[in-house]
Amino acid sequence: MIQRIFRSPKTYFFLIAALVILLALSQVVQIHIPARSRGSIEDLASLRERKVNVVFVLVDTLRADRLSTYGYERLTSRYLTDAASVGILFRHNLSQSSWTKSSMASIWTATYPNLNGVTRFSDGLPEELKLPAEIFKDAGYRTVGLYRNGWVAPNFGFSQGFDQYQNPIASWTPEKIEKRTISSYKLSGSDQSVTESAIEFLNDAGKDKPFFLYLHYMDVHQYVFDDTSDFGVTFSDYYDNSISWVDKNIGMFLYELDKRGLSKNTVVVFAADHGEAFMEHGTEGHARNLYHEVTETPFVIALPFRLKESLVIDEWVQNVDIWPTILDMLGLPSIPGAQGKSLLPLIYATARGETPPAEFLNRPGFAYLDRTWGSDRAKPDPLIATTYDEHRLIVPMCFHGRTELYDIAKDRGEKQNLARRASRLRENLTERLIGFFALPDTGFAATKNEVDTLMRGQLLALGYVLDDHERAKMRGPDGEDPRGCEKPSLPALDHAATEPEDSEDIIEPDVLKFYTK
Ligand SMILES: [Zn+2]
Repeated sequence: MIQRIFRSPKTYFFLIAALVILLALSQVVQIHIPARSRGSIEDLASLRERKVNVVFVLVDTLRADRLSTYGYERLTSRYLTDAASVGILFRHNLSQSSWTKSSMASIWTATYPNLNGVTRFSDGLPEELKLPAEIFKDAGYRTVGLYRNGWVAPNFGFSQGFDQYQNPIASWTPEKIEKRTISSYKLSGSDQSVTESAIEFLNDAGKDKPFFLYLHYMDVHQYVFDDTSDFGVTFSDYYDNSISWVDKNIGMFLYELDKRGLSKNTVVVFAADHGEAFMEHGTEGHARNLYHEVTETPFVIALPFRLKESLVIDEWVQNVDIWPTILDMLGLPSIPGAQGKSLLPLIYATARGETPPAEFLNRPGFAYLDRTWGSDRAKPDPLIATTYDEHRLIVPMCFHGRTELYDIAKDRGEKQNLARRASRLRENLTERLIGFFALPDTGFAATKNEVDTLMRGQLLALGYVLDDHERAKMRGPDGEDPRGCEKPSLPALDHAATEPEDSEDIIEPDVLKFYTK
């Protein structure tokens, strides 16, 4: 009988089938075994006792309201949502500029653009600064940055503190359209090369010392995606496709982090430098104004343990708070001269169901954009915005254009300008701006950097940098750039009072239009 069983081919077939099922099951079990244990917010304190790894995932050009994580009706960000569902999600976060270099300088220095001075084409971060990567390095971390945006290249000072800071070699160039085709320069490859390099890094990471890894994704900026994303064929749909594609890259990275058992000892921070406009206010792209579509960005923290459910913070926070918060969470020294705040007290209060400390209630947020970032020679033409008490005031600091005031709770699209009608409200927000300009000086000055031909070409590929033709269009008959002023200032705040009554609904012409279609 037994011999017959062994001789039967059926037996071997069943044995092999059982083995295959077991193997498959082990894979499934492996995926579903949580690498991170359940924890509570009180466990945050333990992060100060041990050296945890930090990953900073920065998705260029990602506006919060296009993420399913933030309530968007399309499923664009399921992996980020997974991470947020057991981590901390800041529902209302502001970026400090709508232009990459200014915004990134604000994130890394935890200071505002007009105060740190990194606002224009050739500006860079000076050596004397102590940036987060340097703080990590001093604390014994291995520090690696992977970026694909030329504005955060080493020659602008962004590589300070990184053991390795690389633009990964393009491994794959997708066939899908790239919107910014204004020159013969193209940004080659895709974010897949960032993900692949990051995963390769994980193979021997975290063994002898903790690591800090910065991943700067660019495909949302470039409208690049693979053929599994199919929300439609308009630019806006392509934008959603590219979010879904980059989210998949994030999912792949997080899976590999988990698989290596690293996620239980790693904090992962997700953020963006600015959003993207789709003609909501007469322009496309970014770096032209400071409305919600370009300044409201995501901010999510995944912890080395899983919270029972997402901790959602409703108070307004800002990108300048990111590093003060993370460094505080890990018990590392803060950034000297930081103007952002550690959000830890806000996180604890929210988790415990307590009223947040007063300093986080109705806290004004600020954004700044020198609209001449694309030119070395143009006069400054800054816009400044404050978000306060469910309102947003946007002020041109030279004497042209109009002051705008919106009720962003009721008028999410920022369509109805209340600047003339609501004078008390305008004065109230103006006071925030005056207070903002009274903040102590950061004590450092931006460096002025040479931009060589190769670098200029890379920036052209991003759709930045105006070519001669575009510049000529901006100049008046006398060859002078008609915009900007020698000394931008706050007196322009009174400008709203002198505007003609019917100016409210005029949308400014898109003088800086730099996309050719
Ligand atoms: Zn950017």
